[in-house]
Amino acid sequence: MELTPRVHSIPANVPFYTGPLAPNVYLVADGGQGALIDAGFPDDASIRARLDYLRSMPGPSTSARGGSAYGGGSGQALRLADIILTHHHFDHSGGAQRLREATGARICLHRQEERLLADWQADAPLDVELPPERREMAEMARAWRQAAAQATPDRLVEDGDTIRVGEATMEVIHTPGHTAGSICLYLREEGVLFAGDTVLGLGTVAVMPPPHGDMGQYIRSLERLKGYPATLLCPGHGPLVRDVGRKLQELIDHRHQREEQVLAAVAGGRGTVRAMLAEIYPELDSRLEGMARGQLLAHLAKLEGEGRVVRQGGEGEEAVWGLG
Ligand SMILES: [Zn+2]
Ligand SMILES: [Zn+2]
Repeated sequence: MELTPRVHSIPANVPFYTGPLAPNVYLVADGGQGALIDAGFPDDASIRARLDYLRSMPGPSTSARGGSAYGGGSGQALRLADIILTHHHFDHSGGAQRLREATGARICLHRQEERLLADWQADAPLDVELPPERREMAEMARAWRQAAAQATPDRLVEDGDTIRVGEATMEVIHTPGHTAGSICLYLREEGVLFAGDTVLGLGTVAVMPPPHGDMGQYIRSLERLKGYPATLLCPGHGPLVRDVGRKLQELIDHRHQREEQVLAAVAGGRGTVRAMLAEIYPELDSRLEGMARGQLLAHLAKLEGEGRVVRQGGEGEEAVWGLG
């Protein structure tokens, strides 16, 4: 699906992960060359959908630039040069190795994500909350995380790096918070911002306490993105965002409101995660409780770093917090 002259979305129908949970995969194409932003899941249906779309795209106009390994008969399909992963989570990276094998593209990842990607058995939080009763989902997620770990990067990128696609230029913006090495990409020629999970099209993304995430960094990353004159934001999940500045401000405001709620609970003598959960998320679906606890701990870690709350006793979720 063409979103702008250079930007396409390549959806896939994946069993289990549909609707707002499905990861978005984008293609930036210029002059017969292309770069994927994220790779989606590694299942057959997803890989076929991405490759079919790439094959349908025109290649370089001069045959001297060569065809592509996956192009089939004509040899004039788009030449995919890069698969850029916004972060290591398997819903974004799972399909990268299969797509690299099929296209010869190189995989680009922020250097702080390399170890996180490789360490697929680590007990790190996932983007998708898996219901415990759905064992087949948990098994599939495990297999897909393992597949994601094969996406060893060919190029490690950092803040300020640029990635060329034909005549177009994408700028790498390091936006830590959701993960340590999350990146956004800014397509200068069209003012398009690819946000990974730093901005979702719907709702708010999970930001876990260190070492998995960092709320202070996350808010600073959103503030920084406001400095880009983007007219279209392509999120890691959910619908496109047209009013980019307003969306970023909404997300910043939401986190500040949550922080005020946490401070008010602590000030009122309700300084445990259990008490805050009941107060701040009164009607929470039990399946989302783990995620909500993580958000509260992330806010508390930020506030502790700023000296605004202090831990009076206990550890982790059992800790009792008071005002600093
Ligand atoms: Zn995600
Ligand atoms: Zn993620």
